[in-house]
Formats: sequence, structure tokens, C-alpha cells
Amino acid sequence: MDSAEYERKIAHRFAAFDQDGNGYIDRADFNAAAARLLAEFGTTARCDKGQALYTGAEAFWQGMAGIADVDGDQRVTREEFVGGAVKRLRDNPERFAEIARPFLRAAIAVADRENDGAASVAAVERVLRVLGASEEIAGVAARSLDTDGDGRIAESDAVTAFAVYFTVIAPDA
Ligand code: CA
Ligand code: CA
Repeated sequence: MDSAEYERKIAHRFAAFDQDGNGYIDRADFNAAAARLLAEFGTTARCDKGQALYTGAEAFWQGMAGIADVDGDQRVTREEFVGGAVKRLRDNPERFAEIARPFLRAAIAVADRENDGAASVAAVERVLRVLGASEEIAGVAARSLDTDGDGRIAESDAVTAFAVYFTVIAPDA
């Protein structure tokens, strides 16, 4: 992978976290993602699923800050993301999965309209679009998560795939 390709992939992953596009990742980005997901699925912040999503978003932010906010200003800049988050998460994907798990579990629950512990492929596609993925990428990614082809995506599948996406920066990623 040449350096331009590497830069492009880093930029995509940074942009996925920088939900408001102001050039750094902070708590507001995680709260914005939670709010958008709840609005998309007509879920209130006060219900159990809404509270779990905000709690998960806060835990995700705290974990991200702990790994990447080197100067402690409560903002993760692109430089901090590249130097801290990307490198450390690549070295330890399990750690990233643990940080992201409560948020991903809650996001799947919000998208799980049948309350059976998994979300439909179509619902996960909506989640990914709400979080900023293009229509094409959201569709491909959602279908790829349904490894057994039953049309449903469980929390554990989402956690694994998310960790891989953000930690493995390889030529074919
Ligand atoms: Ca931001
Ligand atoms: Ca910082």
C-alpha cells in the first residue's frame, strides 16, 4: 500500500468518527451519532434502549480519549488519531472491541425492531447510512455482516466487523 492509499484510508476512518466534520473527534461527535440513530428509528432518549445508546456512546468516547487524546484537551485530532488510535488499535483489536461493544450492542438493539437480539440487514444498512456511510458501502457492509445468510445480524457480528474495519488497515480493506 502506498502512502497516499494509507492516508485515504485513515481519512475515511477519521471522518467516520468526526461526525460533525469540525476536524477533531470529541464527546459531541459520539452524542451526535447516538441522537441521529435514535431519530432514525423513532426511539426516545429516555427509554431503556435510548439510555443504553447514550451510555455506550459515552463509554466509547472515554475509551477513545484514553487511547488517543495524548495532550488531554478532550479532543482527538487527526494527528492523535493516526499516532495513537490507529497504531494501538491495530496492535490490540480486542481492546477496541471492548471499548466499542456497549455502543454497538445498544445500536443493534435500537435497530432490532423485533426485540429478538438481532437486527435485520436492512436496519443495519440504515444504521450505517445514518453514521455517514455512502448508500453503496452501507449496503455491501450490511450484507457482509450476515455471514449465515438468515437476514439477521447479531451484536457479536457487528462488534467483530467494526473492530476489523477500524483496526486492520490493509491493501484490500
Ligand atoms: Ca467533531
Ligand atoms: Ca487532544
